[in-house]
Amino acid sequence: MTAWASPPSCAALAAQLGGEAHAVIVGSSVSDEAAASLGEYGATKVYRVNGPDGLAQPVVDAAAQIVASGDYGYVLFGGGLLGFEIGAGLAARLGAGVVMEVTAVRVEDGKLVAERPILGDTAISQVHFRSDVGIIIGRLNAFEIKQTGGTATVEDVSVEFSPFSTQATVVTRGEQRGADIDIEGAAILVAGGRGLGNADGFKLCDDLAAAFGSTSAVAATRAVVDAGWFPYAGQIGQTGKTVAPKLYLAAGISGAIQHKVGMQNSENIVAINKDANAPIFEFSDLGIVGDLNKILPKLTEAVKAKKGS
Ligand SMILES: Cc1cc2nc3c(=O)[nH]c(=O)nc-3n(C[C@H](O)[C@H](O)[C@H](O)COP(=O)(O)OP(=O)(O)OC[C@H]3O[C@@H](n4cnc5c(N)ncnc54)[C@H](O)[C@@H]3O)c2cc1C
Repeated sequence: MTAWASPPSCAALAAQLGGEAHAVIVGSSVSDEAAASLGEYGATKVYRVNGPDGLAQPVVDAAAQIVASGDYGYVLFGGGLLGFEIGAGLAARLGAGVVMEVTAVRVEDGKLVAERPILGDTAISQVHFRSDVGIIIGRLNAFEIKQTGGTATVEDVSVEFSPFSTQATVVTRGEQRGADIDIEGAAILVAGGRGLGNADGFKLCDDLAAAFGSTSAVAATRAVVDAGWFPYAGQIGQTGKTVAPKLYLAAGISGAIQHKVGMQNSENIVAINKDANAPIFEFSDLGIVGDLNKILPKLTEAVKAKKGS
């Protein structure tokens, strides 16, 4: 049995299954070096497909053809919109079992078992596959990218794309708002969580950070990053960044353990939460019980007044 995938942990899983990890790369001008470089990340073979850049459906076409032509038991994807879209499309195309938001994968009785947090991350489900092909889509940044130093052969594959696969064109690529923020270097962080209500709620954090000045930045919890309210670059915690600013102001953040590990070393932690029993108060230096929609604007005005701006 051969596992087909690109992340390095796939190579280790494939070895445990007695197989190899292969990768597929679809693009308009993928050089030999770029394709072969996936060997450093655990793939022993790389299928190079000449096709449109950045679109999900051509990759579904390519992967479906490759999986059908080989002895592939599993297809693994990293998290992210493209991974979700390709993985789901491939599952539909192959009639394969699919699990997403996976945080760990292990081998049990010669098969892969995927772990997926459920019920608001309060429990972990163990997912076993009954289908011939299992598709596993990781949670964003749940798996580390490691160079293992191997080599890969590159095989060119010609794929006939479905007519609908090539209808879209990538016009431009851009970064999300805040992708360049330096939260690790900021002295003051204003972090927002689900309590902000929606993406627009971050304006309250932006305003306060702006009032504090250039040494401050806005950060976020995973819940809001996953919801698309804030860019991943600003996520604090176990699967995000670890910070230790002079002041960490948490607004509408419950204080889950996975968030705490990323910010607990901050010099001063101030939390605003409407729930007096929120876990974040257990490790805050100052806790404000109340509605952030009322408190944050007042805080911003107070900081501005203090600074005379
Ligand atoms: C493997 C794994 C890795 C993870 N990695 C991370 C990670 O890196 N970083 C991370 O942050 N999380 C991570 N999580 C998720 C984590 O478990 C929590 O789900 C997440 O941190 C919760 O985010 P939150 O505090 O924004 O949302 P919630 O837990 O929903 O909390 C929202 C809070 O807002 C308060 N609130 C609501 N309205 C208001 C209001 N008007 N005024 C004031 N307060 C209000 C509520 O009382 C509540 O306490 C991970 C989970 C797993 C399983």
